[in-house]
Amino acid sequence: MIVILHSSIDKNSYDYQHTVSALEALPEIECQIHTYPGKYETITEIHLIGNTSKISKENIEALPAVSRVIRISDEYKILGREPGQPGFSFEYNGVTFSQENLHVFAGLCAVDNQKNVEAMMKALQAQGQVCTRMGAYKPRTSPYSFQGLGKACLPMVFEMAGKYGIKVIAMEVTHEKHVEEIAEVLNQLGNPTGVMLQIGTRNAQNFELLRAVGSQTTFPILFKRGYGISLSESLHAAEYLADAGNHNIIFCLRGVKSLFGAPHRNMVDFAHVPVIKRLSRMPVGIDPSHSVGLLSKSPDGISDIYHATTQGVISGANLVLVDFHPNPSEAIVDSRQAIHIHQLPWFLEDIAIARKAYEQRKILAQRWNNPNP
Ligand code: PEP
Ligand code: MN
Repeated sequence: MIVILHSSIDKNSYDYQHTVSALEALPEIECQIHTYPGKYETITEIHLIGNTSKISKENIEALPAVSRVIRISDEYKILGREPGQPGFSFEYNGVTFSQENLHVFAGLCAVDNQKNVEAMMKALQAQGQVCTRMGAYKPRTSPYSFQGLGKACLPMVFEMAGKYGIKVIAMEVTHEKHVEEIAEVLNQLGNPTGVMLQIGTRNAQNFELLRAVGSQTTFPILFKRGYGISLSESLHAAEYLADAGNHNIIFCLRGVKSLFGAPHRNMVDFAHVPVIKRLSRMPVGIDPSHSVGLLSKSPDGISDIYHATTQGVISGANLVLVDFHPNPSEAIVDSRQAIHIHQLPWFLEDIAIARKAYEQRKILAQRWNNPNP
């Protein structure tokens, strides 16, 4: 059961204190208080965990701080969206993530050397970007392939990020010890930047890793859907993160394995952007690089990666995770899909066009859904 309090309620008020004490007095029910700061108001929810079937909804609604009570019928207990519930919104290192806005995380699939990291960060700053992706721990199909520079490259990456005003770096972790390494290096350097921990598609159902990453709340999480499991299985997997305590999760589509996706690397699944927004409260990301996997252009002069990106953005995607490189042919990992750094302004402008079209489509929908009497 979710108890939604009046928005922006004062935690020192009598109404709040009285309501919380009454809920905490419920026998055999655990109360978890979650606060979701938004742009205009802060939503506080109290999740009642345990057998709530005998609790009267009306009695809870009568408590002074309570705005609404929702009985959770859905299987995605924490991340699921019940009708009328707002999407999650969270701020990390000065950047707000929600189902309403859009951030681009362009960067290196794999960190290779300082020169390329610096060139990438510099290009991003020149375009007013504050987010990037930097792979330090790379899960590779073959154990003989480059596995990423690991902990050794973190000080350089974080210092460069700080130098160029980058606030959030999406970085995949494949083991819980990587989270400790990231936290340790960031602390040593005085937190010049922030990290969003990425769970890769190959680890989408690594439940121990999910519990470990979900049990820390220092870093938000970018969860990639599993490439060989259903959407529902991926949403359940994300629920492991939330159940462990961290609700600051972005669900990222990255295509699914299918023979029928060829010549693309995967079957692009960005038509699921609105589906996830409807089923869950998480902001939704798209990774056009790992979905499409190649830079071929159609006769209109636009590459398939750009087309797929804008298809996701025009449907309301909230984050774009994309591989760039100062010299793609030299990229050690996924060189076929890396966009040349000099195209960054083009890519961003293309996204801005699609986003504007999405905003217009929302206004059009409002007009048709709420026609004047
Ligand atoms: C990546 O983003 O670098 C990556 C390996 O993605 P995925 O887990 O989606 O394959
Ligand atoms: Mn890659």
